[in-house]
Amino acid sequence: MSDIEDIEALRAEIRSFLENAEKPTGLRNYGPTPTDADVGPGRAWHKYLAEHDLVCLHWPVEYGGRDASVALQAVFADECARAGVPRQLGITAIDLAGPVLITFGTDAQKAQYLEPIRLGDDVWTQLFSEPGAGSDLAGVRTKAEKTAGGWLVNGQKVWSSAANSARYGLLLARTGPESHRGLSMFIVPMDAAGVTVRPLTQLDGESKFNEVFFDAVELTDDALIGEAGQGWTIAMVTLGRERLTLGSQAVSMFKLHEQMMQAARDRNLLDPVLSRSMTKLWSRMWLLRFTWQRAIEAGDTGSSAFSVLKLMTSETDRALGDMATEVLGTDACVDPGDDSDAAPLVHAMLVGRAQTILGGTSEIQRNILGERVLGLPK
Ligand SMILES: Cc1cc2nc3c(=O)[nH]c(=O)nc-3n(C[C@H](O)[C@H](O)[C@H](O)COP(=O)(O)OP(=O)(O)OC[C@H]3O[C@@H](n4cnc5c(N)ncnc54)[C@H](O)[C@@H]3O)c2cc1C
Repeated sequence: MSDIEDIEALRAEIRSFLENAEKPTGLRNYGPTPTDADVGPGRAWHKYLAEHDLVCLHWPVEYGGRDASVALQAVFADECARAGVPRQLGITAIDLAGPVLITFGTDAQKAQYLEPIRLGDDVWTQLFSEPGAGSDLAGVRTKAEKTAGGWLVNGQKVWSSAANSARYGLLLARTGPESHRGLSMFIVPMDAAGVTVRPLTQLDGESKFNEVFFDAVELTDDALIGEAGQGWTIAMVTLGRERLTLGSQAVSMFKLHEQMMQAARDRNLLDPVLSRSMTKLWSRMWLLRFTWQRAIEAGDTGSSAFSVLKLMTSETDRALGDMATEVLGTDACVDPGDDSDAAPLVHAMLVGRAQTILGGTSEIQRNILGERVLGLPK
């Protein structure tokens, strides 16, 4: 069989598995982050996938992963989007915290945290951004001061996705005065005394991200990941992985595109002009998908070139939302939570606003590309 036939056979197998899978009541495709209400069905679904060896596909085999080819990861993500199910409980634990712990964690940290992540027991949150430190992450002011047996944390984070349902947080905090070398990375139990989480409501009415306050939170020495002062390096690895994961979301756009085409057909709008714009967008999505596959297959997942994918994916996502708005006309005003054919598109259009901000804004990706890939002056 050729590679393509192999992949198509794999796709058919996964599609049939997902069609016949037992879906927990209340399961929906909630995207990378579950709301509080999604955690129950999302966890049950994750466990079902784990039983069938379909989680942590990119993790090394020794930690329960499958060291899977990019083709398998893409097909799985693609088929999950098609089936309208999430591919895992949430992205922070599996796609960010897991790889960080595998690379920088001690044996004890790996033993304690990786298996519960793999099994979907623990939701994690990423505690990087602050009111005065988003794009300029080196401006983090939340402080971790060394004490006799550990660290004392004071400060505030914001936009922390899933913090309201998380058991652990990946915390970037200031341990010294130097801008980059004064940062360290910690694991914070979210139920520790002094941690307060306040959910924020988004444009689509859901509440996925939060403000998090640290008021004299005590952490033990083994909460530190890597060494004191290594936080910036670890944060960059985490953000690199985040860009990579967000790039991979190109696959979930295909389903939305199909829904948009259907909405246009149902409204008798599919004239040559709209058809041409839709086809252009569709080809852009395929180009993105193949570029993502090629970039990962090249092996350097930390490459700044992933900024191209993050930039293009989020801007394409936005273009898709904008075109859906044109197709829907006044139906674009429906409640994104209702059960009309317009609702998933309205939801995607609203969420699409966030894509060019989260994981590093489009302007920051352009700066990275200009300076680190093209070698332009700062
Ligand atoms: C849906 C969503 C989920 C998120 N989840 C998390 C999470 O789980 N954990 C977490 O820590 N953070 C999270 N974030 C926060 C995200 O990482 C920040 O919003 C992002 O890094 C931008 O920071 P900021 O909001 O402080 O904007 P700012 O940095 O204040 O930027 C404001 C504007 O100025 C522009 N700008 C800033 N600096 C430059 C520059 N040097 N050159 C050119 N333009 C510039 C930006 O592009 C932007 O348009 C999330 C954000 C969103 C939208």
